[in-house]
Amino acid sequence: MSALVDSHAHVQMRQFDADRAEVIAAAFAAGVAQMVAPGVDGETSALAISLAEQYPGRIFAAVGTHPHDATTLTSAALARQRELARSPHVVAIGEIGLDYYRNLSPRETQRDAIVRQFALARELDLPVILHNRESHSDMVELLRSEGRGLRGVFHCFIGDQAMAQDALDLGFYLSFAGPVTYPKNTELAAVAAWAPLDRMLVETDCPYLTPTPYRGQRNEPRHVAQVARRIADLRGSTLEQLAEATARNSAALFRLPPPPENGD
Ligand SMILES: [Zn+2]
Ligand SMILES: [Zn+2]
Repeated sequence: MSALVDSHAHVQMRQFDADRAEVIAAAFAAGVAQMVAPGVDGETSALAISLAEQYPGRIFAAVGTHPHDATTLTSAALARQRELARSPHVVAIGEIGLDYYRNLSPRETQRDAIVRQFALARELDLPVILHNRESHSDMVELLRSEGRGLRGVFHCFIGDQAMAQDALDLGFYLSFAGPVTYPKNTELAAVAAWAPLDRMLVETDCPYLTPTPYRGQRNEPRHVAQVARRIADLRGSTLEQLAEATARNSAALFRLPPPPENGD
């Protein structure tokens, strides 16, 4: 079957320190050809690049400061992020965004951090990976006022059809994660059934957001197949078609090379 791309897998994080090589090997064995590992701060961005160096053509890095960590994005940290982002293994700036659900950084600081990282993405001609939680109207307004010329993805999209349309109108992709597999999320299921196939990605956001039927366990990149299968079911399509389309979309957005033919 067609190979899957996990567009958002934090495989560099400490939750995988004990068995990272096994988790990655299991993902490849399960048909995951490539994955993008986003940073959330300076340390996890650097770790993502190190991991990408170990798996060339298979794992790619994104560098960014998450809204939770927005207070850490000093001008020195941003300069360091710019240096990291020049690595040939880096395919995006992310994850960056707004999170008004947990508010772990003040909202004003979050907005300042995302705007400065928009500028970095534009400077380096990289797409952005957006985290957007309970902050949709501010996100859309910021993209309209400060995000001109940017391309990217709303990662772990959660919302209704109008919110999805906003993202599509801005030229962005929608990436679906574990929540689309949760039976109670009927609104999100409807969006996944309706969204244009050429604008959809799939992801795990591992180690978080474990899809059905593995909830309660640590999430892993191999479980991206559950997300793709669920969306295929919702659309009356096949896993093969979903895998092929979302892999093609990931390659287009992140400018990924074709996966190596065989071996790791
Ligand atoms: Zn996120
Ligand atoms: Zn994430």
